[in-house]
Amino acid sequence: MTSVIERLRGDTPAFSVEFFPPRDEADEAILWRSIRELEPFDPAYMSITYGAGGSSRDGTIRNIARAATETTLVPMAHLTAVDHSVAELRNVIGWYAAVGVRNILALRGDPPGDVYGDWVAHPQGLTYAEELVELVRSLGDFCVGVSAFPYGHPRSANLEADTHFLVRKLRAGADFAIAQLFFEPEDFLRLRDRVAATGCEAVMIPGIMPLTTPRTLRTTIKLSGASAPRSLLDRLEPLAGDAKAFRAEGIDVVTELGERLLAEGVPNLHFYTFNRSKATREVVNRLGLVPARA
Ligand code: FAD
Repeated sequence: MTSVIERLRGDTPAFSVEFFPPRDEADEAILWRSIRELEPFDPAYMSITYGAGGSSRDGTIRNIARAATETTLVPMAHLTAVDHSVAELRNVIGWYAAVGVRNILALRGDPPGDVYGDWVAHPQGLTYAEELVELVRSLGDFCVGVSAFPYGHPRSANLEADTHFLVRKLRAGADFAIAQLFFEPEDFLRLRDRVAATGCEAVMIPGIMPLTTPRTLRTTIKLSGASAPRSLLDRLEPLAGDAKAFRAEGIDVVTELGERLLAEGVPNLHFYTFNRSKATREVVNRLGLVPARA
């Protein structure tokens, strides 16, 4: 099974796609339509996020296993330390391996229900993503990724501390990091430079959300943890009442962001798809990231 890092070290720039576990059967049909629509575009890998609850977690495990066995895609499973003992984490990791998933995005996760609430570790669990990286590595030949935050993680004291702990978890055995949402290419490039300045050679990947609706813009602002620049709001806010015009401008914004990142030598663009494929297909087409056979 090809690893994510092998795909990231390919000769040409690529893209990857992220989904979340479906809530019900109808959702699952939408997810699979999107996966099938994206498959011919040959993304470097596809991933499914890991939620806080049992049924959502089952959805991640079931659908990543199906992707591993029924598609040509390279699957990567997210895993968090939330509410898990080390024994449970070992089980999930073993299960991923058993169904052929050898790529794991190792995350600490957030306290259920309150992203900014105090972190409470499971009494027999882990406290930081770094420990999960070590655990996954100790259990087999996995390719491991971690998260990174262009403006710093919301709980980090400052960017210096944030970089220090990011580099620690990369050095604990991660091959690459995927960045949280951001607005300007420079915001991501500065993160990449901070990591490179420590001598760490892990691959840094920007996370991108197609801005198709005012809701996706609000979500991007919330997840980034920063204020959107005036120049971006001036382009999109006046179009909030015109769905078609907003979508067209939002796709332009994201395409320009992708172009500037690729021009800076970024090897891969990671798209948060919201389980829909159309906008991602449009952007990667415009960026020329699509193999001829698609
Ligand atoms: P950590 O790397 O453990 O960092 C948490 C905080 O602790 C940071 O402030 C860090 O600087 C600090 N820190 C780290 N190590 C130490 C140390 N040794 N000593 C002191 N302080 C330390 N959440 C989900 O629930 N499911 C998902 O599937 C999911 N996928 C994600 C995918 C991406 C690409 C991104 C960017 C985020 C994702 N998240 C997901 C959200 C993520 O779980 C949260 O942002 C969480 O708050 C931090 O997780 P982490 O792995 O970055 O934590």
